[in-house]
Amino acid sequence: MKILLLYSLIQIFISNPYNLHSNSRQDADTSLGILILVNKQHKLPPGYRPYDLVPIEEKYNKGVMNLLRQEAATAFARMCSRAEADSIVLWNHSAYRSDTVQRQLYENAVERRGTEQAGRFSAQPGHSEHQTGLTVDINSTHTSFGNTPQAAWLRQYAHLFGFIERYPLQKEHITGYGYEPWHYRYVGIKAATYIIENKLTLEEYHERNGKHPENPAR
Ligand SMILES: [Zn+2]
Repeated sequence: MKILLLYSLIQIFISNPYNLHSNSRQDADTSLGILILVNKQHKLPPGYRPYDLVPIEEKYNKGVMNLLRQEAATAFARMCSRAEADSIVLWNHSAYRSDTVQRQLYENAVERRGTEQAGRFSAQPGHSEHQTGLTVDINSTHTSFGNTPQAAWLRQYAHLFGFIERYPLQKEHITGYGYEPWHYRYVGIKAATYIIENKLTLEEYHERNGKHPENPAR
């Protein structure tokens, strides 16, 4: 009986494509739409570029890289506008990046900090969430941002607009990245609310919901 149980557990471990402990690399599943998982294990196809990138509303942009997918851009402007009503000023620092730009950033980071340190904060081309057009660095790229009223506001309300803090403190062993309180990912209100209420990362969300993440209550 015990052996049977162990066998079943091993089967589950092997068959789950979102297994957090797997080091194998695979293609990101672009059919997941706004729930797409891109990380060190899941790579976008070469040259991937979302078809519906639009500029972020000028009022909420201070970045050169100012494109997001349509739905995310609309949600971002709505979030910034709502924050403004609470006297919280939010803006885009950096949003969509092509894999060419990502390659330059990664190579610069490796040159400055060495491969190991660079890997904690910079993604290799094809492995950056910024390439999905669903990610926005808000206001800053310094860890001290985490202690500001703006970051506190985001932690409390961002999910109501469909955004999650993607690389929270003490989740590096799961996400593969150090604490980045400025890096927000659009996943839609339903998934974002589920993720926040259950204190999950996007990796854990996919692991829990398998191939049917559109039904997060499952
Ligand atoms: Zn970022």
